Amino acid sequence: MSTIPTRDDSPIGLSEHVYYLPGAVNTALVVGEEKQAVIVDTGQDKDAGRRLKRACESLQVTPVAVINTHAHADHYGGNDFLVRNLELPVYAPPFEASIIENPYLEPVYLFNGAKPPKELLSKWLLAKPTKVTHILEPGRLELAGLELDIIDTSGHAHTHYAVGVGDVLIAADAVFGSTLLGKYPLPFGQDIGAQLESAARVADVGARVVLPGHGDPTEDVRELTQANLDAFARAADAVAGACTGIGTETVFKAAADALGLEMRDLPRYYLNLCVVGAYLSYLRETGRVDLTLAENQVRWTRVC
Ligand SMILES: [Zn+2]
Repeated sequence: MSTIPTRDDSPIGLSEHVYYLPGAVNTALVVGEEKQAVIVDTGQDKDAGRRLKRACESLQVTPVAVINTHAHADHYGGNDFLVRNLELPVYAPPFEASIIENPYLEPVYLFNGAKPPKELLSKWLLAKPTKVTHILEPGRLELAGLELDIIDTSGHAHTHYAVGVGDVLIAADAVFGSTLLGKYPLPFGQDIGAQLESAARVADVGARVVLPGHGDPTEDVRELTQANLDAFARAADAVAGACTGIGTETVFKAAADALGLEMRDLPRYYLNLCVVGAYLSYLRETGRVDLTLAENQVRWTRVC
């Protein structure tokens, strides 16, 4: 029985060269010369990989490479299917490449480097490994007969690169779609200082359209950037306000309560705890909080 393709199965054009597949994680196809295509991010799992393969078939293009913007499982989980079935080379930023090749590192770092509880080993946080054949560098990259701009937009992940194609910026998680920011008042970040600079850089690129990794593409680039910067500032204030001479996990509870967050499962708990840790590092670096260790306990205290 044939099925009618849904909106989900049809790649949506953003320009002559860029198409995307909307979903919980947006993935993109960059179509270059001689009907060659580069896949940017591969989604959560083999279903996402399969969907990208079908999208290439429907556009009648031949995929020639995968670019991963960063090594969060929801952005590279489809690699394994695509590499096994289409033998594609994989391009990824340094540091992140180590995680793509050793995905267990993600649940391990979320659990302070120790063996993580089994709840952190679901595909949400643990993708299948793939070999990274090329380490990306910021600058020009020629693929599929096109010049791509690889732009350092680190912060959401320790190393995170966006991909510029003409007047379209595939920003991935350098910025979040506005509706997402309403739902998640503590947007994920691992290096907040870098994340703030990267959000500003997204606006400075001067793209006509920005495609975030989560949420809708937009031409209101400055508005999107500002919404992200405002959300990061609110999160920083909530974490700083929670620093009343208490330990990290108690700061986390106070900040989550203040932001109206409810942790319903362990993966979310540890992901958000990581974000609060990133804010605490940032707030200490910028002189807003102090970190002391006494009586076998660290304490975070607001300075101003
Ligand atoms: Zn991410």
